[in-house]
Amino acid sequence: MRTFGGSVALVTGAGRGIGRATAKQLAAAGLRVVLTARSVDELTGAVAEIRDAGGQAAAIECDLANRRQTLGLIAAAAEPFGPIDILVNNAGVGSSGDPKPLADFNDSFWDLTIEVNLTAPYLLSKQALPHMRSRRWGRIITIASINSRIPALHAGAYVASKHGVLGFMRTLAMEHAAEGITVNCVCPGPVKTRMNDLRVQYDAQRLGRDIATHEQGMTPVGGRLAPEDIAPMVEYLASDDARMITGQAYDIDGGICMA
Ligand code: NAD
Repeated sequence: MRTFGGSVALVTGAGRGIGRATAKQLAAAGLRVVLTARSVDELTGAVAEIRDAGGQAAAIECDLANRRQTLGLIAAAAEPFGPIDILVNNAGVGSSGDPKPLADFNDSFWDLTIEVNLTAPYLLSKQALPHMRSRRWGRIITIASINSRIPALHAGAYVASKHGVLGFMRTLAMEHAAEGITVNCVCPGPVKTRMNDLRVQYDAQRLGRDIATHEQGMTPVGGRLAPEDIAPMVEYLASDDARMITGQAYDIDGGICMA
């Protein structure tokens, strides 16, 4: 069993996909987990699953595209179990919401993507830091992407936001390394979630391939990842075992990026 210097985790975008798998993994490791997302139905289901398995969880509805709600989240999330020791920035807007070449890009979709994928992790980290600093223990883990390293067609805002979040997190890691706070990113390849399903449909159509053939060729290992392939790395980075790891970004991508 892993140990953790803190006991309360906040996972954004935890209603489904990678966030839900991560919340379940952290709860199973003994942490008290606050789950946040926009969809109350999805959150209720995720919290019920955790409680049925004997874990402790609470849900908070929050739209990270709404600056006022983002700014209130850390205080609200501290209510059920106390101050946040582990912040998992997972919520994200995918490129499939409005894929277009940059020359034709939708400016509103650019703003939305940057707000949720880059600005919200910045604001949440900034608000969570005082608690972590006072306890001299903290973990900030952000779900970035292989698109933090390599581009993707018609995904300019997504790629920019994911490159940006890596730079921001490395800076934060430098600034707080001596305070018991580690800051790391996990960079998934294609994971079978609602977000990626839409992207697969878009790319298969664009390339004139059937979905099954396209999906199988998406990673050197073959096919796509599952959300449960990502969650164990988050648990590890959150644990005391990873106390000397900071400013890093780990690719979990079926062999796409081998730098
Ligand atoms: P998903 O669509 O299953 O989940 C996305 C989550 O983000 C949902 O819970 C959704 O409610 C939340 N979210 C989106 N906009 C929000 C907003 N305005 N306010 C609050 N929550 C919001 O997708 P996923 O694949 O599980 O994505 C999770 C993270 O993983 C994202 O940051 C994504 O960029 C990243 N990622 C996913 C893949 C992939 O292939 N699925 C690959 C690399 C990185």
